[in-house]
Amino acid sequence: MPSSSTFSTSRLGTPWTLPPGMRATRATRALAQLYEARPDAALSEAEVETALATAGAAVNKVTVYRLLDRFAAAGLLHKQVDAARVTRYALAPQGGDGAAPRFECDDCHRQFRLSQGSAKVQTALKQVLQALATAGHESLAVDIAVHGRCADCAHPAGGAAA
Ligand SMILES: [Zn+2]
Repeated sequence: MPSSSTFSTSRLGTPWTLPPGMRATRATRALAQLYEARPDAALSEAEVETALATAGAAVNKVTVYRLLDRFAAAGLLHKQVDAARVTRYALAPQGGDGAAPRFECDDCHRQFRLSQGSAKVQTALKQVLQALATAGHESLAVDIAVHGRCADCAHPAGGAAA
């Protein structure tokens, strides 16, 4: 069996570089591990709070928000608001790619990162952002969301949905 050296169990590759002034605590490590285990997850504060508690790094709501916001400000997490107006935090695309298109199910509000075909979108976005930056606009953020029903909702297992 050939072994592939390019395969990695972690899309993060390297451990997170903590934002300036942020100490490596049990909570920050647990947060990094959480996203390492679920690289495609867009988690709400409540979900992160529960996960951290499960990981033995229980912190209160205010601290969770502060952690998430600092990671978002540092570009490690991407902050977004779903259709139910719940703020969710997803792993930011690595390599400064900017916003990754995502698909959100209007029924179950799960979010899916779109990797297929996103390269062209990214390239186009980069040009738009570059043009805006050239015009002097700052702190540009793009959020592309495709809405619809996910496969699970559209075709429930064993259901008779046509
Ligand atoms: Zn769904």
